[in-house]
Amino acid sequence: MGFQRIAEVCEKGGDGVRDSPVFFFAKNRRDGEFSLITADLIKQVDKLFINGEWVEAASDKKIEVINPANRKVIAKVAAGNQEDAERAIAAARKAFDEGPWKEYHPSERAQILFDIARIVQHNKEELAQLETLDNGKTLRESRGDMDGVIRTFRYYAGLCGKPYGETFEADYPLSAKVVREPIGVCALIIPWNYPLLMAAWKLAPALAAGNTCILKPSEVTPLSALRFFELIQEIDIPAGVMNLVIGTGMDAAQPLTESKQVDKVAFTGGTETGKKIMMNSLSNLKKVSLELGGKSPNIIFADADFETAMDYAVFGIFNNTGQVCSAGSRLLVEKSVYDRAVEDIISRVKQIRVGDGSIETTQMGPVTGEKQYEKVLDYINIGRSEGARIAFGGNPLLVEGSEDGYFIEPTVFVDVLNDMRIAQEEIFGPVLCVIPFENEREAVQLANATPYGLAGAVFTSDSAKAERMARKIKAGTVWLNTYEENLIEGPWGGYKQSGTGRELGVYGYEAYTEIKQIINNLDVQPTNWFNS
Ligand code: NDP
Repeated sequence: MGFQRIAEVCEKGGDGVRDSPVFFFAKNRRDGEFSLITADLIKQVDKLFINGEWVEAASDKKIEVINPANRKVIAKVAAGNQEDAERAIAAARKAFDEGPWKEYHPSERAQILFDIARIVQHNKEELAQLETLDNGKTLRESRGDMDGVIRTFRYYAGLCGKPYGETFEADYPLSAKVVREPIGVCALIIPWNYPLLMAAWKLAPALAAGNTCILKPSEVTPLSALRFFELIQEIDIPAGVMNLVIGTGMDAAQPLTESKQVDKVAFTGGTETGKKIMMNSLSNLKKVSLELGGKSPNIIFADADFETAMDYAVFGIFNNTGQVCSAGSRLLVEKSVYDRAVEDIISRVKQIRVGDGSIETTQMGPVTGEKQYEKVLDYINIGRSEGARIAFGGNPLLVEGSEDGYFIEPTVFVDVLNDMRIAQEEIFGPVLCVIPFENEREAVQLANATPYGLAGAVFTSDSAKAERMARKIKAGTVWLNTYEENLIEGPWGGYKQSGTGRELGVYGYEAYTEIKQIINNLDVQPTNWFNS
């Protein structure tokens, strides 16, 4: 059912919000346009996808999925458990070891990825609206995510068969070459802040390299993955190559990380969960890539283009309601422009239209779930008690028409000391910490004084200073005069406790391969080692 069809259904549905047994849809309150869709599009909402078919979960327990804009239950999904995880592992194992998948030519795998991109493109609006319904992010953000999903599948379709091995000089008569092979069964565990985009960042390179996969979305936001798996059923993908298990981290994901039948775990999420996953993966020393949290410094020098720097300072923390691993949550501002910057930021933050993400004019949606809502409010109180000053926000926000939503005012703490907890720990919400600095040396010292190292940015009109800073910041990505530009073509990942390994680009593809050296003897005759 495409978007047009959904609109027709909505037309018949009449005005306002209308509940159905498990889903609901609504007419946009501001401009009267229908913009929410029904999640009951998903026929298999309470099933898992294992070995090429939709199956019942082992237990009949269900997990309620909540729309964070109004706390309504929008779906009840299967609560997969260890038994389900083991079924998925067995299917993926068999598909890798015995199935036709590994005989597929790179061009055939590429065609599958191109087909997935085409299907997402065709259903982009529907998937975007579903993502907004489930995660709370604005429609603009969800549409941007879907564009990212499409580009990721296209990029890795194009990459299939392109990365090549090497040969190297060896003493005659030896000839040596290096080839890359798929690792095997990959468990892909993803978070709730970019549900389908994070799935794409893992599925696309894993499949391009010839692996089989088990995707475990966050229990908080499983709907776009469920719908995605339904939509791609029209493609002829061998059974067991792509499996979907829904359930809590403890019940459904941990068994994947502990299993000796799984060869690789790729995870995006919190640092503490990442550490646990690394420990649990020791059973068979599986390959682990972790994309974890951050406390990224966004550094504004006095000589920066002020308008641009302020614009990105606000975008860098409040886009996606601050629930971004690379959010510019620590804004370091050179003292000579500090007061002016704080004043300017407050004037911008006041204008942010917070509300239900499904309303086209909303600029910042709710926080994604109750746990995160409580966590962000707790941190705001911690900041207060640490002596940081709230220059704007700092409270839950009552949004007219969405009174029950998990809304929090965009919050700006000023005069923050870098060793305060609010400047050291990942809040993962719409909370900015502004910290003054005296000079370049102090900016570097503050930027690096954190356990994290995912990203950072520098705003200056001095290109030599920009590059000096970029070299000194300990982070996997440094933006110069921009923020949050994520290139599918480039490596993404962190230094220090922001993770291990790199996603995206050729680096992301290589992370799903084993390296094999093949040494060939060009002069085949005995060595006579034991005859001399
Ligand atoms: P988690 O890191 O715990 O969750 C991410 C994924 O891991 C989910 O699919 C989750 O499942 C799963 N998971 C949870 N426990 C385990 C486990 N023992 N073994 C394997 N997988 C597991 O995120 P939270 O929702 O708990 O958020 C906590 C904090 O993490 C946030 O406040 C934020 O600071 C950070 N975070 C960072 C993200 C990033 O992009 N770097 C993304 C999300 C969170 P399930 O949700 O079903 O329990």
